[in-house]
Amino acid sequence: MAVKVAVPRETRPGERRVALAPAALRQFEKLGVELLMQKGAGLESGFDDADYKGVTLVDSEEELLGQADVVLKVQPPTEKEVGMMREGTVVLGYMAPHEGDSRIKELCKRQITSLSMELVPRISRAQSIDALSSQGAISGYKAVLIAAERSPRFFPMLTTAAGTIRPSKVLVIGAGVAGLQAIATARRLGAQVSAYDVRSATAEQVESLGAKFVDTGVKAEGEGGYARELTAEEKKKQAEVLADYIAASHAVITTAAIPGRPAPKIIDKATVERMGRGAVIVDLAAETGGNCELTQAGKEVDHNGVLIVGPKNVPSSVAIHASEMYSRNLCNLLTLLIKDGELHLNWDDQVIADSCLTHGGEVKHGPTRERLEGEKS
Ligand code: NAD
Repeated sequence: MAVKVAVPRETRPGERRVALAPAALRQFEKLGVELLMQKGAGLESGFDDADYKGVTLVDSEEELLGQADVVLKVQPPTEKEVGMMREGTVVLGYMAPHEGDSRIKELCKRQITSLSMELVPRISRAQSIDALSSQGAISGYKAVLIAAERSPRFFPMLTTAAGTIRPSKVLVIGAGVAGLQAIATARRLGAQVSAYDVRSATAEQVESLGAKFVDTGVKAEGEGGYARELTAEEKKKQAEVLADYIAASHAVITTAAIPGRPAPKIIDKATVERMGRGAVIVDLAAETGGNCELTQAGKEVDHNGVLIVGPKNVPSSVAIHASEMYSRNLCNLLTLLIKDGELHLNWDDQVIADSCLTHGGEVKHGPTRERLEGEKS
């Protein structure tokens, strides 16, 4: 019998993406799996049930999850959803391994194998599975559009009969996947772009996109291509150099993150007070505490005429393409789990082993296991 792959409707408020987009159907079909979906699961993303040709539509979530071998999710499965799954079900999606301990314990209790998109290793072979990248790129793009829309200025230089308009100065802080896409988007809009990151390797990437790299003299390459947390002295040095750039910017996009840690605070209140009226900060790190001291997640704060926007779940606002890219990421991961039409988890495969959060009643991800064990003692 073909492996049954089920896609429930996302229930978290504000989540507009779906784990299966019609554009990815052909790719899933090639795997020889049977696709099942809860009725209306694609509506919020802009897809009608009729767009899902060949997919079996199921009325209730309980009926759907109760027969699934594999479940595809965007947001982590809730305890209620986990309770509806059969023992041994494999769930692919964001698992938020750094939080939601009771949910993770429930996954163990129910013997669910969960593969977490946050834990997919950042190696070249896994690039097509990397949802942090696909969704990060969307956030970077959209952050610039939010900044341009909220700014009382043009981004491009304009020469008109009513005079010449100088281009907006945009600063991007954090030049990872989201930051690089923000730079490219701001450049396409004609802004004058500068960017900064603690990883010096990003300087070349920033410059290749036509932006100026701000060198603060602080370098903080960490493990696995990520940044490490800065020392107090490094933070002070970084803040001093950056403050002048921030103060002179018309729009600042911040994307700085350290995996599993609260977002580094890079823009303090005093620096915001040096910015001109009408300046905009779009803080993509809002949900993990914000890169700016004044950011409030899900809100816009006006501080003396400077607008600080802290959007939540930005990829959801580009739901069609975000769902398409995310479904392809999931399909590429599922491809590694299916051999001769059957589920086969090869634990010698680094992508599968590293991505696994829970399996066989145990937490497989070291840091999450240590945190949960720490709670017991
Ligand atoms: P991220 O979202 O974890 O962080 C965003 C950026 O913030 C990073 O570039 C980081 O260096 C920067 N940052 C952290 N603290 C900072 C501070 N105090 N000041 C300024 N900047 C700060 O990063 P990401 O976009 O997910 O990418 C992380 C790394 O993974 C990069 O090296 C990227 O090239 C790599 N990557 C590899 C693959 C792959 O090979 N499969 C895919 C995607 C990304």
